[in-house]
Amino acid sequence: MKAEILAVGTELLMGQTVNTNAAEIARMLAEIGVGVYYQTIVGDNPQRLEEAARTAVGRADLVIASGGLGPTEDDLTRETFAHVLGAPLEQHEGWAQRLRELFARRGRPFTGNNLRQAMVPSGAVLLENDNGTAPGIYLQRPDVVVVLVPGPPHEMRALMREKVLPRLARELAGSRQAAVLISKVLRVVGVGEAKAAELLEPLLSEQENPTIAPLAKTAEVHFRITARAFDADEAHRLIAETARQIRDRLGDAVYGEDDTTLEKAVGELLVHRGLTVATAESCTGGLVSHRLTNVPGSSAYFTGGMLTYSDALKVSALAVDPALIAQYGAVSEQVAEAMATGVRKATGSDIGISLTGIAGPGGGTAEKPVGLTFIGVADQSGVLCRRFQFWGGREQIKVRASQAALELLRRRLLGDRNG
Ligand code: AMP
Ligand code: MG
Repeated sequence: MKAEILAVGTELLMGQTVNTNAAEIARMLAEIGVGVYYQTIVGDNPQRLEEAARTAVGRADLVIASGGLGPTEDDLTRETFAHVLGAPLEQHEGWAQRLRELFARRGRPFTGNNLRQAMVPSGAVLLENDNGTAPGIYLQRPDVVVVLVPGPPHEMRALMREKVLPRLARELAGSRQAAVLISKVLRVVGVGEAKAAELLEPLLSEQENPTIAPLAKTAEVHFRITARAFDADEAHRLIAETARQIRDRLGDAVYGEDDTTLEKAVGELLVHRGLTVATAESCTGGLVSHRLTNVPGSSAYFTGGMLTYSDALKVSALAVDPALIAQYGAVSEQVAEAMATGVRKATGSDIGISLTGIAGPGGGTAEKPVGLTFIGVADQSGVLCRRFQFWGGREQIKVRASQAALELLRRRLLGDRNG
């Protein structure tokens, strides 16, 4: 079943309201195995709405339109779909009565405009809305199902969950169509999107079910595996097989699944190894500590961090030899190593991680350009340092640096485990 979501409202086109309904509806449809092929936004304009409605009805098997069901003249969705589908509007007596009672209870005048919300295209089912005055509308035709839901997200959500999805699921079960669409995300670090995609050939180009979608994030890549099946067990089996093939090709670069962040994966490794870690940060301003402590239970392995931004504090808090700073500069391999060793010792931790770099936009030189960052790791076997050249704005450089530090730590922990 091919679905199209049509969001109606000029405020959406202008970006004043974010079209969250479409994203939410798409996720709900995925739960029952319905793939969304198009998402359209159209303003409150009669001609363009009619054009959009016609196009949607012509190319999709399921059209879900949200918004434009209010009582005023600029709310046109109901009238337009009635016209496009050739289903004249009829008054729904039950809903008209409910509206009259509601207005009487609130002591508000009931006008002819309010009755528009009790109009239903001929042959459609009215879906009672317990949170507002505009009901949902469900119209089943041999070649298309059209559903209209109100724009306010909480009204849309309740109607979709309680009225629309159960109906659609019954419909699909009756027609023996695949009824579930389940996704899993594999999270990859240390390999760029292009390289990862290359390693996954011919898996990527031959994919059909499950599908594999690469999603580039900052300093990591996600692969979303989506399987369509008759039931959840079958979908999970299909996903597991594809995930295994991806892991075979990408190896340790796959650090986690679904909501597992890199800091969480690192935390699990630290717990597994029974090791503690401390940070000495400069250019990242505490971001690595922040990320490590975003994980519940991080007190089991994170002892603390020192944010040593100035040269003086690097010396006094981490016992970095001032001669090293004088000779090589604060952004150098030597100082990164001394920071990592220093914080490990000062905190009595098993591992010390350090970062020193130039986040920009100023402060770069030909020799030490913006983005240059040294990351050190000290543990019982000694200290190592890696040099990175990051790119982007100040914040992006900080994020990339924190990512590299966590990845370096993860590699170290994996290496330890593998002997
Ligand atoms: P309407 O049903 O067009 O009268 O919209 C009522 C309210 O719902 C609007 O003022 C928006 O705040 C909200 N709304 C409408 N459409 C959407 C949408 N697609 N996503 C999120 N909010 C929406
Ligand atoms: Mg509107």
